[in-house]
Amino acid sequence: MTVNAGHPAAPLLRVEDVVVEYPRKGQPPMRALAGVGLEVAPGEIVGIVGESGCGKSTLARAVTGLAPAHAGSVTFDGTPVGAMGRRRRASGLLPLQMVFQDPNASLNPRRTVGAQIQEVVVARERALGARRGRRDPETAREAVEALRRVGLPDGAAEKYPHEFSGGQRQRAAIARALASRPKMIVADEPVSALDASAQAAVANLLRDLSREEGIALAFISHDLAVVGALADRVVVMYLGRVVETGTVEQIFNAPQHPYTQALLAAVPVPDGTGARPRALTGEVPDPGSPPPGCRFHPRCPLAVDRCRTEEPVLLKAPGAGPESEVACWVAQAREPAPA
Ligand code: ADP
Ligand code: MG
Repeated sequence: MTVNAGHPAAPLLRVEDVVVEYPRKGQPPMRALAGVGLEVAPGEIVGIVGESGCGKSTLARAVTGLAPAHAGSVTFDGTPVGAMGRRRRASGLLPLQMVFQDPNASLNPRRTVGAQIQEVVVARERALGARRGRRDPETAREAVEALRRVGLPDGAAEKYPHEFSGGQRQRAAIARALASRPKMIVADEPVSALDASAQAAVANLLRDLSREEGIALAFISHDLAVVGALADRVVVMYLGRVVETGTVEQIFNAPQHPYTQALLAAVPVPDGTGARPRALTGEVPDPGSPPPGCRFHPRCPLAVDRCRTEEPVLLKAPGAGPESEVACWVAQAREPAPA
């Protein structure tokens, strides 16, 4: 299976070698992203995974223009994201929408969700030069339809965010994001704060919306199992870098990086025997002063001398499929997988 089947070659989102630093008092800056690349094709679902603190939210903020890049570039649909404009962002009109772990981050507690969606619809129509106003029955109808689309019961438009359950509130936030008719949604841990049943339902909703509306989706999670259930392609991050990327099949069946292998070891297997035995040990180092060489080497069971001095870059992995890349000296030296 090729990952780009059905996807045009030109990426919708292109992130090149992005560095993001946060200043710190009396210490070197926190380099939360240390040169990250990422491409997402129209309609593609990319899962971004890694332990807490590896830079996933910073990547989401860099992609949506909320965190300025110190180096590198982010372009969306051919436009640098920094140029997309504060006003369009504030009115919820970007073609690239964010869904946050906490839906309250994008919903106003003092207005009904219907009114909030109508606001985006009106701004969208105005931006297109249309005359459709707040009182136009079509505007209200679209808000009701958007809430139905995300699986909320009739009458949801008249409710305030606090009247919903966590899962319903996240659905309402997704409906608001949809109202601008985005080409892409970046969802940062969108299900991590929800209870188990709502987690699967909201993740499936995002997947279905992406498939049915052709909206590209970057789904961020610390949980490889969640990402594996919906993504076409997986990007594994460690300490501000991408260490492996491949199709979901390759990542689960032939993980190349010892870090990916460790994440996979922590995924419970469906036969009920619990998690597989090998698990990650050691502390995550400070991304502001990462270890020399490969930043994973102090925790790596396979590290050789070269790993302690030379930082590996992402290259094709001989032991994996053609869409895979890995940043690991040991994996890059493996024999090619039998055809
Ligand atoms: P993740 O989402 O994968 O947990 P983040 O992108 O939130 O990771 O954080 C990456 C690193 O940057 C962490 O070490 C975090 O402590 C640090 N960090 C995040 N935001 C800030 C900030 N505003 N100021 C300073 N450090 C930050
Ligand atoms: Mg985060």
